[in-house]
Amino acid sequence: MVASQPEHREPARHDPALGRVIIDEATLQSRIRELGRQITKDYEGRVPLLVGVLKGAFVFMSDLARAIELPVEFDFMAVASYGRATRTSGVVRIVKDLDLDLTDRSVLVVEDIVDSGLTLSYLRKNLLARNPVSLEVCALLVKEGTQRVESDLAYTGFRIPPDFVVGYGLDAAERYRNLPYICVYEGPGSG
Ligand code: 5GP
Repeated sequence: MVASQPEHREPARHDPALGRVIIDEATLQSRIRELGRQITKDYEGRVPLLVGVLKGAFVFMSDLARAIELPVEFDFMAVASYGRATRTSGVVRIVKDLDLDLTDRSVLVVEDIVDSGLTLSYLRKNLLARNPVSLEVCALLVKEGTQRVESDLAYTGFRIPPDFVVGYGLDAAERYRNLPYICVYEGPGSG
């Protein structure tokens, strides 16, 4: 197939469940390139191990990794929180653990979104117990004014209002992860 100019995209799909676009595709991609440049500088001479938190972080991790000009390694873990669909209960369960040993590794956790900070706080404690040489977090989105747990983030993509959002890896009942932008979700379960 011959490569051609990308088609112009509609700002949001014609889907009544999707509200306003909070971060468009171009803005996302340009911020991710900046984060990649910063991480490349900070980790010079090291081989960072990127730990993606499934499922939400997989799209971000894929773009971020390609913006890092260093040898990197990947691993993934999946966590689930008990409770209502659009709220974190704070009780986190590891559904899939890492394959790699973290001993003496420079670990960079890649998270989609930090809301209460409870998921991250649990993950940080859990991963620190595995003796990495360093453990930092890169979160694409941080919700303003909602953190109940003080989260120490080395890299943050964007601060957003405390709405429930979907797109770019984030879902509502497993849908909308493939939207190339972040928008507010106004469908069933959002109120
Ligand atoms: P926390 O433990 O910081 O309250 O919540 C973090 C997790 O809750 C995220 O990794 C994500 O899975 C989910 N989450 C929090 N806010 C949102 C949101 O606005 N949209 C989506 N799709 N998931 C969210």
